[in-house]
Order: sequence, then C-alpha cells, then structure tokens
Amino acid sequence: MKTQEENFSELYKTIELLEKLVSFDTTSFKSNMALIEYVQGYLADLGVESKLFFDDSKQKANLWATIGPADRPGIVLSGHTDVVPALEETWKSEPFDLVERDHKLYGRGATDMKGFIACALALAPELKKRNLPIPFHICLSYDEEVGCLGVGRMVEGIANSGAVPMFALIGEPTQMFVVNGQKGKHSMRAKVYGTAGHSSYAPHHVNAIEYAGRIIQMISQYADKIAEEGPFDHSFTVPHSTMLVTTINGGAATNVTPEYCEFTFEIRHIPEHDGQAVLDDLMKNVEAELLPQMKAISEDAGIKWEKVFSYPGMGDCLDDEAFDLIRDVLPEVSGKVSYGSEGGIFEKVGGIPAIICGPGNIEQAHQPNEYVEIDQLDKCLAFLRNVVDAVEKKHANED
Ligand SMILES: [Zn+2]
Repeated sequence: MKTQEENFSELYKTIELLEKLVSFDTTSFKSNMALIEYVQGYLADLGVESKLFFDDSKQKANLWATIGPADRPGIVLSGHTDVVPALEETWKSEPFDLVERDHKLYGRGATDMKGFIACALALAPELKKRNLPIPFHICLSYDEEVGCLGVGRMVEGIANSGAVPMFALIGEPTQMFVVNGQKGKHSMRAKVYGTAGHSSYAPHHVNAIEYAGRIIQMISQYADKIAEEGPFDHSFTVPHSTMLVTTINGGAATNVTPEYCEFTFEIRHIPEHDGQAVLDDLMKNVEAELLPQMKAISEDAGIKWEKVFSYPGMGDCLDDEAFDLIRDVLPEVSGKVSYGSEGGIFEKVGGIPAIICGPGNIEQAHQPNEYVEIDQLDKCLAFLRNVVDAVEKKHANED
C-alpha cells in the first residue's frame, strides 16, 4: 500500500505531465513528433525504451513502450495523442496552455485524451520500480480523431511480435466507468458525374444532383429498414446501426444542368452487424437501377465510390477470461457507446480484447473550454494502481 502523500505526489506529477502534453499542438493534421519525442525522453530517463511506428510522411508516429517482461502477454494502456482543432473563439484561455479553475483543468485534449496518457506516464516510475510478473505497455497513437487511421500499423506490429497482450484498456473519457462496446464506422464519398448543358435542354442531359438525390433516397430507405428490422443491441443509446448523408456539394449556376455532385455518407454499425455488406448491397442496387438510366443519356455519366475511412466496432468482451485478472478492481459498467475508439482495432486487427475506461466526460470533448476534473485524474490513478496491485497479487498467489 502506498501512503496518501505518495498518491498525492503522483497526482501532482500527472497534472505536471498533462500541462506538458497539452502544450504540444497535436491537432490531427499536424505532426505529433514533438510530443512523441518528449514522451520518449521521459521514458528513456526511467530506463524504458520506446519503439516508434511512423506514418508514410514520417511526420507522425505511434509510440510503444514496454515496462516489465516483454516476452509475456501483458496489459496495454492505450491513448491517442492527436486532438481536434481548437479554433473556436469562445475559448476563455489559450487552448494549449493548461489552466486550472475550480478543480478543473482546461485545455485542448485535457479530457480527450491526454488526461489518461498523463496518468499512465505518471505511473511509469512506479511500474518500473515494481517487479512485475507481466508487462504493461504504453501505447500512444496518431490520427485517431480523423478515423482511427494511425493505430492499425502498431497493432499489426504487436500482433505479429510474439507475446500478444492479454487485453487493452482504452483511456477515452468515460468518467471512469467501463464501456464494453463501441460501434464501427464506414465513411464513404460518392462522386456523381452527369453532363452539363443549358437547363432549358434538361432532358438531353444527366442531372448529377438529381441522381445524387436518388441515391440519397435509397440510403434513407436502408436506414429506415435497419431501424425497423435491426439487428438490435439495446445496450447502445441508439440500439441499431445508423446510415445517413453528411455533406453534399454540386451544381454551377441556376441555369445549368449540374454536371457534378458529390456527397459523403456513413454507416455506424453495431459490432454484430456487417456494415460493409450493407454498403456493398447499396452500391450494387445503385449500379443496377440508376447507372443504366444515366448511361442511356450519356456514356460519360457515372458514379464513383470512395472510402474515406473505416474502423471496426468493439464487441463486448468483458466476459473474456483475460479480464479475470482485474475483475475485482474494474469500475462499474456504464454500457456501450456510438462514438469511435481504437478498441475495435485492438480487438478485430490484433485479436486483443479491449474495454474503454478513462478520466473525463466525452461531453467536454471536441468543445471550446474542454476540461478534465482533477478528481477524475485522481480516480484514474487509483484504478491503474489497483490494476498494478491486482497483477502483483495474482502472481504472489501463483508462486
Ligand atoms: Zn478521443
């Protein structure tokens, strides 16, 4: 057991680290290397080596650091380093300067999700000091906020590295409840090519906006059908997959038949529902019903589909025996969430069961004046300490 004073100094360390992490502007389209190099240095000072997994531009990297015996299956503490832009004019303080007001720490990424990363890093000296029977892995990714693009490479690397971790704790803000499921998502772009001409000759042309409108109509019909027929999982607030159009652009002038229209759409699917199969069906039907009509007027007309990004859903794996190790110290389960996280990638790409549990509230994420309560960081530290104790105790019992 640790003394209250030691706990307090860990909390203090966490806030100090959070201040540093927030000071790096890691908006997704920017490089995260300054933050990664800082963390790498911090861990190196403790004698912990980091492995970096770069993106193609070498401007961004994932970091993977192992504390404890690397040849045994361990526990992943996972967080994304990128944040959404902080351009809102309603920020009361500099978004990249951590500021405390009323026991709350304000700054971009304070809750989503540098708070969790700060907790994990603050515990690193303690992890290093103990004689751990299994390793803890600190796993930091890039490009989560733009579609969970970054972490895949690292998870593939881990999955092929021999000692596949037992499970992953994803520290997205859940107010320190356990979230045991997350929807998957496919984000798509449709490009509709028509033919332009004076609008008085409309029947001689292919109206790209009108055909886009018909496809959108079909997407709504799919959405209605899914809402009616399922599949359902009532532990989600919206208990079925959803499908909708999100942006649209087209047309050139009020008297020209539009030559081009593009729109984006998405399906967010419950983990048990095959989102790709729904999309394949939609595209097949569009091509069978609408394409011949378009081509009948002009061979140049057509439709192109592009995948913007996708990530898998995270199924409920809380019953997995991997979690037996920490079952006694797990916080209460609050249910499943419709927003994305990297949990699905750990589970589906890496075969590593995952749950989401982290400090702060998702309602404060992606908002001006984002904050995390100091109390939440304290709770997160307490949970992580309990996890470490549980690991050590289990090992002592086995010896
Ligand atoms: Zn996040």
